[in-house]
Amino acid sequence: MFYQQEFDVIVVGGGHAGTEAAMASARMGANTLLLTHNIETIGQMSCNPAIGGIGKGHLVKEIDALGGAMGLATDQAGIQFRTLNSSKGPAVRATRAQADRTLYRQAIRKMVEEQPNLTLFQQSCDDLIVENDQVTGVVTQMGLKFKAKSVVLTVGTFLGGTIHIGLENYRGGRAGDPPSVALAERLRALPFRVDRLKTGTPARLDARSLDFSKMQAQPGDDPVPMVSFMGNRAMHPKQIPCYITHTNERTHEIIRGGLDRSPMFTGVIEGVGPRYCPSIEDKITRFADKSSHQIFVEPEGLNSMEVYPNGISTSLPFDIQMELVRSINGFENAHIVRPGYAIEYDFFDPRDLKQTLETKYIKGLFFAGQINGTTGYEEAGAQGLVAGANAALQVKQKDPLVLRRDQAYMGVLIDDLATMGTKEPYRMFTSRAEYRLLLREDNADMRLTALGREIGLVDDARWASFNHKMEAVEKEQQRLRGQWIHPEHSAAASLNEILKNPVSREHSLEELIRRPEMTYRKLMQIDELGPGIDDPIAAEQVEIQIKYAGYIARQMDEIAKAQRHENTLLPDDFDYSKISGLSNEVVAKLTEARPETIGKASRISGITPAAISLLLVYLKKHG
Ligand code: FAD
Repeated sequence: MFYQQEFDVIVVGGGHAGTEAAMASARMGANTLLLTHNIETIGQMSCNPAIGGIGKGHLVKEIDALGGAMGLATDQAGIQFRTLNSSKGPAVRATRAQADRTLYRQAIRKMVEEQPNLTLFQQSCDDLIVENDQVTGVVTQMGLKFKAKSVVLTVGTFLGGTIHIGLENYRGGRAGDPPSVALAERLRALPFRVDRLKTGTPARLDARSLDFSKMQAQPGDDPVPMVSFMGNRAMHPKQIPCYITHTNERTHEIIRGGLDRSPMFTGVIEGVGPRYCPSIEDKITRFADKSSHQIFVEPEGLNSMEVYPNGISTSLPFDIQMELVRSINGFENAHIVRPGYAIEYDFFDPRDLKQTLETKYIKGLFFAGQINGTTGYEEAGAQGLVAGANAALQVKQKDPLVLRRDQAYMGVLIDDLATMGTKEPYRMFTSRAEYRLLLREDNADMRLTALGREIGLVDDARWASFNHKMEAVEKEQQRLRGQWIHPEHSAAASLNEILKNPVSREHSLEELIRRPEMTYRKLMQIDELGPGIDDPIAAEQVEIQIKYAGYIARQMDEIAKAQRHENTLLPDDFDYSKISGLSNEVVAKLTEARPETIGKASRISGITPAAISLLLVYLKKHG
């Protein structure tokens, strides 16, 4: 039976990719259906209750700058906020928030329900309707058919999901949820390359059974940072601390004693796990010389007694889990509320996707999130937003949304996936971006909000607030450029107390801020020069743009240079071993990957700018 209404876009899955995809498509005016297993689990955090962090925080700010939900939901659910790398340069500063799991889900659900053009339906999607290599709809578990012009699949860890605890295993999409078996079989019959990955989660503990006095408290930052450009501190719920404890030699001994019943070490699990979020059994084997590993003891919520011990993800048998947990300082009497487990699932080789996240073989079918081999809510949300927007743009027959690597971490993420694929769960790091100085958290709105507005992703309120900020920044920059201080100026004495070298000639305020010992705030505290702008976000922007102007200009030059060679072709049978100066490793990598262009070659991990220069010189001589 066909449902009476036809949709422009159907999004399958109500996780982090799915909710961003559905809301993006609906914001752009496409008539959208969000079809998901269970409406109660919309926006559910399957693993740790935290959003952001290094690289990931950058993605959240970008999602937010394009009008997405993740940043605002985090502001409404965050119970401990921190700015990581706060003492380092602005490019690597990143916001991280511990979230109340329930509040987060509620915030996302509310946004989904209040979104015009978005319809919800609860059922499993078991099949796709494909006619002449074009998707035209989906079929649910009860045989109901929905017609649509585009379909976005965001089914996370659910495809053919198998849960492992020790040598026991059973089918599941994540603990407490069914797997997607019928859909997995259907997708395996299509011409996409498919493989298995695995990820894991630690046991959850009852806070009442832990001794927090033996752990180190870790409060959040004061003042509390905000995640969304539209966020404000009044949104934040009560703030509480996290705690830190450690594993010890005894813990490691217990783990080693259980490895013969580990599904990972006995070969029961074949999928590759996340390198940067390894299980504790993996850590003690890979880093055998370390006698201790840090554990962040994170509350799951203000009204929950569960805590998440971040750092001891495991799929060891339950008796070993009990023993290892109780060997840890402060956990001696711990009660496990939910056992840790690993999950294996199907993912599709993202090299079978276009940069729009549309599949190469089935028109109108888009993939986003964990199904593409990534791990993490932020990576999923970012892809969801891009896939949802592109599904809507395709329906409206408009140009696609493809973000460049110098424009957004979202662009880096999708370009990495679509050009290089991945053999292990892919997570974002700032080191994956070539142009880190340009891709900062603080300027995500300046990079993306106007673009989002153009295609209908950004609403009037955000647009007005963005323009207000930009006007304030621009006006203040002009003032700082135009106001001069000479040695006899009444402010000179106060200035000289801050400056290493006293003012000996006329300086503009802009020049003074450029000095390492000076900040915008310090300068504005001098009566004659302040008070400046009171919005701390706009003030930060003024300072960053002045202090880093030189570096930013250099990076822009590099981009212009790289763009000139982006499409320079590399012959298919190119013999890289002929180029003198290239290391054996670089020759091997280029020979295996056979990139079609210089641009693609430069993005292969381990291919340095120096190697690219040698390639260009060779091509010029012999081309
Ligand atoms: P999900 O959040 O999984 O959402 C998928 C949605 O699709 C769900 O709502 C589901 O009900 C729905 N769905 C599935 N199949 C169908 C269907 N056929 N029909 C209708 N609806 C369907 N991330 C990290 O960064 N680090 C980690 O260490 C980590 N560990 C993890 C451990 C475990 C055990 C799990 C389960 C996840 C872990 N994650 C981790 C991953 C994180 O949860 C995901 O990256 C993120 O949730 C992916 O978002 P998504 O939207 O792609 O999928």
